[in-house]
Amino acid sequence: MAVLKKMLLWGSENQWLKYHVPNYRFMQKAVKRFMPGEKLEDALREAQAFNTKKISSIFTYLGENITDLSEAESVTKHYLEVLDKISEKNLPTEISLKLTQIGLDLSVERTFENFKSIVQKSHDQKNQVWIDMEGSAYTDLTIDFYRRIKLSYENVGLCLQAYLYRTDADISNLLELFPKIRLVKGAYKEPPAIAFKRKKDVDQNFFKLAKKLLKASQQGGIRAAFATHDIKLITKIENFAKEMNLSRENLEFQMLFGIKTAEQTRLSDEGYKLAVLIAYGDAWFPWYMRRLAERPANLTFVLKNLFTS
Ligand SMILES: Cc1cc2nc3c(=O)[nH]c(=O)nc-3n(C[C@H](O)[C@H](O)[C@H](O)COP(=O)(O)OP(=O)(O)OC[C@H]3O[C@@H](n4cnc5c(N)ncnc54)[C@H](O)[C@@H]3O)c2cc1C
Repeated sequence: MAVLKKMLLWGSENQWLKYHVPNYRFMQKAVKRFMPGEKLEDALREAQAFNTKKISSIFTYLGENITDLSEAESVTKHYLEVLDKISEKNLPTEISLKLTQIGLDLSVERTFENFKSIVQKSHDQKNQVWIDMEGSAYTDLTIDFYRRIKLSYENVGLCLQAYLYRTDADISNLLELFPKIRLVKGAYKEPPAIAFKRKKDVDQNFFKLAKKLLKASQQGGIRAAFATHDIKLITKIENFAKEMNLSRENLEFQMLFGIKTAEQTRLSDEGYKLAVLIAYGDAWFPWYMRRLAERPANLTFVLKNLFTS
């Protein structure tokens, strides 16, 4: 399984596969399990449905490592339109984006300007923007970027990855900013020199960091969201929050569209704060390969679609 995971993560970074594989119909059909469609309208439709179940949502327009700044401008423009649509429809929907999708590989300053326009509009609409965390080559840049934008804007959150050894120290250093942090396990191919490799160790570190964030958030001003589908871990966090006398509406979980839907319903029905991240757009290949790597058994869906197409 570890070899398969490695191969899938390698595939997620392969340029040839990225341009060719999405053309296959069976892949287009298989990816539908994790995204309602490629259009913004598809995401809006699902967000409305979640809203009727008191589940909020987060939109991600798929794309990363763009190679032309004009592309970064059009992604920025797209997110500004998305914020308008969310506001028009009065949806409890935030947005989450990758800095390399708005130019980080090309110009930090242009990326900052692009991001600032998104976060300003979101601020005007009383909304929030999340910054995704990408591979470790971007960790320092992304955290520095977050520190800089957080000086001027409250409404911005950052994703941090529990598989990295450094994350404990990163959280300690960021606490002075009263951050909004989404904790995840981490989805990229990282070497053992910087990241826990065994699931057991990643899970243990996730729980340790979750406790640290919950304790810090008790002092106020900090938002912590636990983005995982790991039911054992969720239960441990629920129990810890109970011991802290933290009310359910103050404990926030986030999950991906199409994964552990029964658990999504349970958390929401029991009064926890839950947001489902809905991804859309046609640049889904690297993102989808990371979803396959998280659970290589997902490949059976791909194969099923191959044989039924
Ligand atoms: C809202 C959200 C935002 C995220 N943002 C980032 C980010 O910015 N940067 C980043 O590196 N990672 C991000 N991730 C991905 C994250 O790092 C993990 O790779 C992913 O959530 C799987 O880990 P897990 O915590 O669910 O635990 P796991 O131990 O991997 O999974 C627990 C169980 O959940 C189910 N499950 C998990 N993944 C899948 C899947 N793909 N398909 C089917 N079942 C599955 C399985 O039943 C599995 O046994 C995000 C995840 C979420 C939910």
